[in-house]
Amino acid sequence: MDKKDMKILVLNAGSSSLKYQLIDMATEKAVAKGVCDRIGIDGSLIEQKCGDKELVIKENLATHTDAFKLLLKALVDKDKGAIKSIDEISAVGHRVLHSGEDFKGSVVITDEVIKICEKNAPLGPLHMNANINCIKSAMKVLPGKPMVAVFDTTFHSTMPKYAYMYAVPYDAYENWQVRKYGFHGTSHKFVSGEAIKYLKSIGAPHARIITCHLGNGASLAAVKDGKCIDTSMGFTPLEGLVMGTRSGDIDPACVEYIMNKTGMSISETLNYLNKKSGVLGISGISSDFRDLTAAAEQGNERAKLAIDMFVYRVKKYIGAYAAALGGVDCILFTGGIGENVKIVRSRVMEGLEYLGVEFDKEKSDNAPRGQTVELQKPASKVKVLILPTNEELVIARETLALI
Ligand code: AMP
Repeated sequence: MDKKDMKILVLNAGSSSLKYQLIDMATEKAVAKGVCDRIGIDGSLIEQKCGDKELVIKENLATHTDAFKLLLKALVDKDKGAIKSIDEISAVGHRVLHSGEDFKGSVVITDEVIKICEKNAPLGPLHMNANINCIKSAMKVLPGKPMVAVFDTTFHSTMPKYAYMYAVPYDAYENWQVRKYGFHGTSHKFVSGEAIKYLKSIGAPHARIITCHLGNGASLAAVKDGKCIDTSMGFTPLEGLVMGTRSGDIDPACVEYIMNKTGMSISETLNYLNKKSGVLGISGISSDFRDLTAAAEQGNERAKLAIDMFVYRVKKYIGAYAAALGGVDCILFTGGIGENVKIVRSRVMEGLEYLGVEFDKEKSDNAPRGQTVELQKPASKVKVLILPTNEELVIARETLALI
């Protein structure tokens, strides 16, 4: 079979959910998208969209294996499915949170690969255990089908050691691999790769790119000649930018102080920093930028402060990465906020003329959705782009390349 005629099933497992897309590699478009939700919880269900056909099945899904079986049933549903038989699925690509230091790229899944993932599970237990469960379920239900693991971390494996090390006693790295890993790698890889293609096509410089993935989770990456040299998330996704519900950078000494003041345990305090902080914690309103911008427009001071803090942190990291790259050729926005929230783009870009950025606010405010758009004025030395991300497509492409 021609590789282009293949259909790749992309799986993204969370602790109680399993998102999936079936991607037709001839068009690189999803022919079906769905999610199994509330796995292991009362009220579990599957929701699938396939063109204009929608399918919802409420069924008890105790495990990821149950969810995987049901999604196959939904994909081959006579009236609302996308394929006639599961034989039409050529391969499965699994999104996996953490590669540790063991993988520098995507890999075909073998028993050995699963063992290494299990060894690395303590680096991100919630996601990793879900990812491993999902891989095992898929292998059980579809034995012999080629499967590939695509990691969130491997795009960042090119960072130099002085960038990824934390300045704690060296044996914390040697014995327990304590270091910066970075996340959102599939997104940073996709958008930087697409930006390079685009910039080449218009004859523009493309060696030094800063990718701003701004969604509920948010991170920046500094990309030199297509390779990541630094990124803002760290040992876990908690480091770096102010996010929807994550604090981002904070003095670690606050942790003990907050614990003493509140009586929370260490895991409760980490939950507080991961789930109750960020723009949600500051505004006291919402983690969603639609709610925040609406509240700020009505004069809510804490919503305004949350947006100010979010924007300021992105701007600081852009300055840091421009320094790390020795200048910048392109700054690009992606993710739910980067692609859709014009006030964030224009506030981040304010005052960056010293870097060679001449930002065109009007272009940004009127940018059409879902496509690559240039946002700079003609005199600008730096290209500023919106470039919609597509993490599932990266996973499908990597899977196709390896099978
Ligand atoms: P993500 O995690 O990439 O899905 O991004 C989620 C964030 O993007 C939320 O804060 C949303 O408010 C924001 N977002 C997504 N779509 C829109 C939109 N059309 N308008 C405004 N904000 C949006």
